[in-house]
Amino acid sequence: MDRRYSALSHLECSRCTARFDSGELHGTCGCGAPLLARYDLAVAAGQVTPADIAGREPSLWRYHELLPVSGPGFVVSFGEGMTPLLPLPRLGRALGVPRLLMKDEGPLPTATFKARGAAVGVSRAAELGAAGVAMPTNGNAGAAWAAYCARAALPFLVAMPADAPLITRSECVATGAETYVVDGLINDAGRMLAPVVGQRPGWQDVSTLKEPYRLEGKKTIGLEIIEQLGWRLPDVIVCPVGGGVGLIGIWKVLAELAELGWIGSGRPRLVAVQAAGCAPIVTAFESGADVTSPWPQARTCAFGLTVPAPLGGFLVLQAVRETGGCAVAVPDADLLAAQARLAHAEGTWICPEGAACLAAVARLRESGWLAETDEVVVLNTGAGLKYPETVPADLPILPPDGWSARATPR
Ligand SMILES: *Cc1c(COP(=O)(O)O)cnc(C)c1O
Repeated sequence: MDRRYSALSHLECSRCTARFDSGELHGTCGCGAPLLARYDLAVAAGQVTPADIAGREPSLWRYHELLPVSGPGFVVSFGEGMTPLLPLPRLGRALGVPRLLMKDEGPLPTATFKARGAAVGVSRAAELGAAGVAMPTNGNAGAAWAAYCARAALPFLVAMPADAPLITRSECVATGAETYVVDGLINDAGRMLAPVVGQRPGWQDVSTLKEPYRLEGKKTIGLEIIEQLGWRLPDVIVCPVGGGVGLIGIWKVLAELAELGWIGSGRPRLVAVQAAGCAPIVTAFESGADVTSPWPQARTCAFGLTVPAPLGGFLVLQAVRETGGCAVAVPDADLLAAQARLAHAEGTWICPEGAACLAAVARLRESGWLAETDEVVVLNTGAGLKYPETVPADLPILPPDGWSARATPR
């Protein structure tokens, strides 16, 4: 049998299961739902083992059989992946969850887990011959795609809300993306871009879940967590959810690993965490709904979670329910307090979206949903450094040798 770099087989609609050729560019299904990449997992199982993977380069491309890019020549990379799975012993003990771990995505290129989706999405768009790609963004996805598109020499058009973190705007401009700033939310930016993309021959709309390959990059978080635990499952994985790509990706790859026979039929309980200022998935989960309703006046400092109408909301709900998980909304004050508590206890300054997961863990332990014996992995999706405004540090400036006048050391 030919050894295949990728075991990609076809695309399948996540709602109506219609089948599509994976050899050409596709957006969503005619029914409006996202398309999912499907693989010849029997071929992959005959070709690669976890032991083979252990000997490969420390990047997400070590899982190339389970990724859509057809050969190493098409890989656009900064060496992303294999981020640390950090134990949080001091904070874990304080929260009553001593087996607390954090998958820390801060060290990725552009400092958020959006780099995973961009690495695989850009590689595949370029491989399939897209003339350019376009997306609305809350900032981090745009920054990541801007970097990878520049590396691939693929033209990139991006529109973001005016109050998206300023650094992400600079990142897009710095890497030469065609960047627009909109007085509105991400869905407004998306509405403005659609006709522009339609007028550009060969361009692709790469909005969240409107193309199938960003999800494939994001699923590698799940692969890494399982590999770093020695191909063993934790009890619970807690994910911040905006568009839901991270959580859906983890759920998807767990099914693929089970089919490969690398894990059993059990699943970690998947917890979706949102900010109270934009929680369409939590509201749907609590009311027993299968789909989300648009969230009015969305607002939170956890900007990556400001997604009022996620296209893949129904998939997040399915993933959470199927695994016996739950959905939790956290007010901004609580997630900022959790961010400070973690930084003081463990020395790591994480983004507000990741901090929301720690606030959720505290709540779920208090309510008894989490047990003291549970092994819990929280996903930190980015570095605190990208959100300097979340920690005010306006300290007095002392004159040289001015201890007594303005301040005294503790
Ligand atoms: C985009 C983003 C999220 C939300 O991720 P989804 O995959 O859209 O659910 C969380 N945290 C950060 C830092 C992000 O940039």
